[in-house]
Amino acid sequence: MIKIEEALEKILDGVEVLGEEAVGILDCLCRVLAEDIYAGTNLPPFDNSAMDGYAVRSTDLKGVSKENPGTLKVIEEIKAGDVPKEALAKGVCCRIMTGAPIPEGADSVIMVEDTEADSREEVRIFKQTGCGENIRRAGEDVKEGDLVISKGVVIRPAEVGMLAALGKRTVRVVKRPVVAILTTGNELVDIEEEVGPAKIRNSNGYALYALILKYGGIPLMLQTARDSRDEIRRKIEQGIKADMLLVSGGVSVGEYDLVREVMKELGVEMRFYKVAIKPGKPLAFGLIDKTPVFGLPGNPVSSMITFEIFVRPALLAMSGRNDFRRTEVRATIKEEIRKKPGWRHYLRAQVEYREGRGYATLTGPQGSGILSSLIKANGLIIIGEEVTMVESGSEVLVRLLD
Ligand code: AMP
Ligand code: MG
Repeated sequence: MIKIEEALEKILDGVEVLGEEAVGILDCLCRVLAEDIYAGTNLPPFDNSAMDGYAVRSTDLKGVSKENPGTLKVIEEIKAGDVPKEALAKGVCCRIMTGAPIPEGADSVIMVEDTEADSREEVRIFKQTGCGENIRRAGEDVKEGDLVISKGVVIRPAEVGMLAALGKRTVRVVKRPVVAILTTGNELVDIEEEVGPAKIRNSNGYALYALILKYGGIPLMLQTARDSRDEIRRKIEQGIKADMLLVSGGVSVGEYDLVREVMKELGVEMRFYKVAIKPGKPLAFGLIDKTPVFGLPGNPVSSMITFEIFVRPALLAMSGRNDFRRTEVRATIKEEIRKKPGWRHYLRAQVEYREGRGYATLTGPQGSGILSSLIKANGLIIIGEEVTMVESGSEVLVRLLD
């Protein structure tokens, strides 16, 4: 049995970042950028008005005030999207809208709130301006040739906006890992089937599918394999063609837990089996031709928590991400917790904040088959390997789930 950190290290040592592909910028959210993005143009591309108002020459308004307004002739109106027709001569101005280009000769914009107009031909102005006032200069946001977004960045909505502003229709990103899911067990039936006296529904397949999607992978659901060597072998052969394979169930020590044996027969190089974690102890990991293969415990909560702790970092790493550290917060617990030494426990809990302090409450029985207590949880209380008791009212570390 190995420690959690050691298992994680072996997993991250074993996985590689996938190749790249070009995608449309509407499909690149949360993906990892695989190229540096340089600006092909200035942003904004031209000097433009930051206000609705009048483009003026500041020298024409020297000494102007509320009590002593100046009057200027309006020679044209420049709307956003218009090209100014004339340069500004002395003593005249242009009505201008936000985003419209500044006409030649103008050096500032006076906002409409500081003016009054009785006609469209003339405007009274109550304030002087300084050179450059209310003008957004070409390139003040981004200069042509600038490195704007670096390779390796996880694309957020702001990056999508920037790519559009720079005229990029597609970008190169790291591929999304295709993750095959193989559920095993004679007792499993699918959603539509009759449950019958000794069967249960395959819930892990669906929960794992959702987890893969949640962390940016492309899930590939294989049909459930019975606990038969041949069937498991055929399905694993199919599954290892994906970028990663998750097998749920059949990895314990029962007589019908055949998954690890079959993996070895097929040439999967096993890196570890059994980790000092509860829930989740019977966890296997190996590699075949660079494809990581996980044997996850069949118990629903164990399979999801081992996914959270071990598969998620692998999936993110293959997607080019290294931001897989989860937020951990300190919270006070109400109930006393007792456990045996040797395993690190992750207990399903609900964390609430009152006056800036966190309080954690267990969400119910902690058996590895009790999925309902995971439903109510927003975090996992971490109790260290060697700890055997945590008194009520103590502070614990909680790993947040979302
Ligand atoms: P195993 O790891 O195969 O020994 O399974 C451990 C427990 O998890 C058993 O009670 C199984 O019935 C249950 N189990 C295994 N696979 C699934 C699944 N896909 N969905 C729900 N429960 C499962
Ligand atoms: Mg089984």
